[in-house]
Amino acid sequence: MRLALFFVALATSIAAEVGQESIEYWNRVGRKWLDAKLESDVGTILAAQQTPPKNVILFIGDGMGIATITAARIARNQNSGQADVNQPFFFETFPFSGLSKTASFDTHTTDSAASAVAMMCGRKVEQNTLGRLPGHGNKCEHGEKAKIRDGIADLAIDKGIDVGFATTAAITDATPAALYAKDVHRRMEFDSAPGMNTSNCEDIATQILSHPADKFKVLLGGGHAQFLPDSVGGNRTDNRSIEEEWAHLRPMQLAQSRVLLTGTEDFVHHTPEEDQQLLGIFAPLHFPYRVDENLRNSSSVPRLSEMAVKAVQVMEKQTDSRGYFLMIEGANIDKAQHKNRFHLATEELSEFDRAIEQVSNLVGDDTLILVTADHAHALTIPGYLNKSRSIFERDGNVSSIFFATGPGYGDGNRTLYTAEESMDPHFAQPASFFFNDARHGGEDVGIWAKGPFAWLFTGTLENTQIAYNIKYLMCLDDKEKSVCDLRKRMTEKQQNEDAERIMGATTVSPQSQSFHILNTSLPIRGTMIALLVITCVLALLVAALLVLLLRSTFRGTVKPSESSS
Ligand SMILES: [Zn+2]
Repeated sequence: MRLALFFVALATSIAAEVGQESIEYWNRVGRKWLDAKLESDVGTILAAQQTPPKNVILFIGDGMGIATITAARIARNQNSGQADVNQPFFFETFPFSGLSKTASFDTHTTDSAASAVAMMCGRKVEQNTLGRLPGHGNKCEHGEKAKIRDGIADLAIDKGIDVGFATTAAITDATPAALYAKDVHRRMEFDSAPGMNTSNCEDIATQILSHPADKFKVLLGGGHAQFLPDSVGGNRTDNRSIEEEWAHLRPMQLAQSRVLLTGTEDFVHHTPEEDQQLLGIFAPLHFPYRVDENLRNSSSVPRLSEMAVKAVQVMEKQTDSRGYFLMIEGANIDKAQHKNRFHLATEELSEFDRAIEQVSNLVGDDTLILVTADHAHALTIPGYLNKSRSIFERDGNVSSIFFATGPGYGDGNRTLYTAEESMDPHFAQPASFFFNDARHGGEDVGIWAKGPFAWLFTGTLENTQIAYNIKYLMCLDDKEKSVCDLRKRMTEKQQNEDAERIMGATTVSPQSQSFHILNTSLPIRGTMIALLVITCVLALLVAALLVLLLRSTFRGTVKPSESSS
């Protein structure tokens, strides 16, 4: 009975450990995937030859699914008069690419909060949550135990590695907030947001004042409304200006000053100087679409490429830098598709690509660049439209850019739009079902990589693997395996080989060493098996002799009359 209880307790504890709400589960998935990569023929060679990246830049095209890229690529080529060329986007020319699985902890198709947490913390969480472990409900009253503290940003700051981000969304929006916000619903961006007064949460805007975001080197995006009191046009009812409070915080260790930029003029005139911390907020909420800026001939906000370049410049002005992690988000690719407006999405994707190209030209060989999406949109490119016609047109009743859901459904009879109508920059492509906001798509998304160890991001991987690999390459998690351990082992091995060579010992390659070990271990194993067999045979012989001896003894002592009764 006791033994049974022991096994039940053991099984329960193992089940608790392997649960998908635990980081151990996702680390185990990450470790297994990574080991297979590192131990492959190509991995063994490349890992020995390359120096790990000092810096990592993660570009996230929000909602940039494979169909979105294909349709935008066709549209862009058609717009530039080279429909037959199918010129790729810049990031599509990266030497390595793979596929990333995006499901959240609780849904097949993820929202941006859960997928951003997966990519930046390495674990799956529930939809709409930020920095909060699964299974803790809607209220933030579970204290420290519900908070995720092992994400890239937390660990990097602890190691003295710089962290920053630039986005075309509000700084408090789901993707950037996944880097720093703890224990909160994504909609709780300011003090009086819906649900705030009953949840015991700290609003997201306020959290730029505390660890780890107070130590970020760069925060660039929109969202004044979430940071400013209602007396000056903001959303806050606590009369606080979080922007001013941030500017008056003491600079982090090694930083000399905090610089607050509140408009495009500030941005244009700002020169990155050594050891700055930079907060730039340039729009009331999210940035306007690039198409609208172009139509108005306006520059009301900096371009994503300008912010990305500025962020890199600030990061690289750090004295005695130990490296940096930078996240750049093209947020409006997603927001345009939520409205089925694909002209807008095309332009946003081009802006995103421009940012990647400019940053690529700026950084050195010590920087790993990753490009991916947090999720796809439910978009498809059906039919056989002739290449002489615009991808925005239809072939018969079939629209060549077609959404599963969204406002493009209209009155349900929108398949009869004209070619002229489809060229309106704000034209909404048709959809099958009506929703004010189109729903995301659940298929895998692409990942493109270049720089040191970029080959680690090939094949099909969980989106959590992106965080696991970055932690591995930047040696962020002392409890997990890291490339630093690998380098240490390789250095020790090299030193041993050098010492042997100096002493005149025969030099052997790693391959021949392992072959040698394999060959010498085989005779030992064979000898052990032979000994075991001989021992068994001897034991059987002894047992047979004993049985014979006992039999003859009994026959000699038992009388015939007693044995027959
Ligand atoms: Zn979205």
